[in-house]
Amino acid sequence: MAKCLVIGAGIVGLTTALKLVEKNHNVTIYDCNKIGQASNNAGGIMFPLSPWNDNSKMQDLCLSGHNEYNKFFNKLSESERNEINLKKSNLLVIGSNVDASKKWLLDNKQVKSEFKKSKIQSVERTINNSVNEFILIKGINILEPKKLVNFYKKKLEENGTCITNKEFGNIDEFLHKSDNFKYDYIIISSGAWTSNIIKDKSIKIKPIKGQTMTFKAKDNLLSNTLMFDDYYIIPRGNNNFLVGSTLEDVGFDDKTTEEAKTVFNKTLSKLFTNHNTFYDKKYFFGFRPYVDREPYICKDNRHERLIYNFGHYRYGILTAIPSAKIVEKMIL
Ligand SMILES: Cc1cc2nc3c(=O)[nH]c(=O)nc-3n(C[C@H](O)[C@H](O)[C@H](O)COP(=O)(O)OP(=O)(O)OC[C@H]3O[C@@H](n4cnc5c(N)ncnc54)[C@H](O)[C@@H]3O)c2cc1C
Repeated sequence: MAKCLVIGAGIVGLTTALKLVEKNHNVTIYDCNKIGQASNNAGGIMFPLSPWNDNSKMQDLCLSGHNEYNKFFNKLSESERNEINLKKSNLLVIGSNVDASKKWLLDNKQVKSEFKKSKIQSVERTINNSVNEFILIKGINILEPKKLVNFYKKKLEENGTCITNKEFGNIDEFLHKSDNFKYDYIIISSGAWTSNIIKDKSIKIKPIKGQTMTFKAKDNLLSNTLMFDDYYIIPRGNNNFLVGSTLEDVGFDDKTTEEAKTVFNKTLSKLFTNHNTFYDKKYFFGFRPYVDREPYICKDNRHERLIYNFGHYRYGILTAIPSAKIVEKMIL
């Protein structure tokens, strides 16, 4: 049994902590208030949206995440699935990404998909846009990430593992202090804020802000999850929907912008005639942990006991389980 300190209680840290607890390790978690900042504000599509933009290691991690969520889906009871709003959905791709998506799906045959040259209204009657071709990716897992964060927190608490409200400082200073010897392993999963902890200049991690909008519609607009150009719409049940998301390199700017509101409302009015009937609009944002490569899931090359698990950028919810499994194998 190893003593592990996990820094950061977003989906990546919580999933890692849970995996370690399941293996009977003793886990302490630190978080400095924002518990799951990016994770709580994510969409929750358990499938990569534009994987052709990522390197092959990231693509493999995403596909592995897709398979892991299928297993996770089967393992949960119906009431647990309802608790996190985990559902099977099809993902409909229309607009500018159809060709790239078609090519990627042909190269990655693990997922069932169909390319259709017919009117989109045969699948989604409410779309008024003249869409004559689309891709239907079958059996994607969709969930509400904020609910998953709470579900994991509850599971950890049931196992006697709580989250300590503490801001962790510079890791090099910590490694020189005597209390660092309390832990056999220190796992850094602090998302977009990781550069406050690791001062290694070769590791370039920064926030890429993403804004989303939730709304209610008069009737059931969509039954499938829809990707239209670079935006997606996720049905949440009871005529609730989420549209997202922006990709903004603006540091930790925490304002909802007029540009984001405009782009979401324009997307809705391009797709649906009854856009005036959308109400209860609410805006959210999260800071994705961006690195210009695949996520860092490895040991620090100077300190055997220091383990990295950060930089999952657009796919941290999807890839949290395979990432945690990699970390688990590093703990002796
Ligand atoms: C709008 C939007 C939509 C998204 N949609 C999807 C999607 O559909 N599917 C998907 O897979 N991914 C999606 N993502 C990406 C996903 O949200 C992230 O990749 C993932 O949440 C990263 O998780 P994390 O645990 O690394 O970071 P976070 O959830 O941000 O957690 C990091 C934690 O570390 C803590 N922390 C930071 N510094 C310190 C410190 N010094 N001491 C202690 N604690 C610290 C923070 O308080 C925070 O709780 C989306 C992201 C956004 C913004």
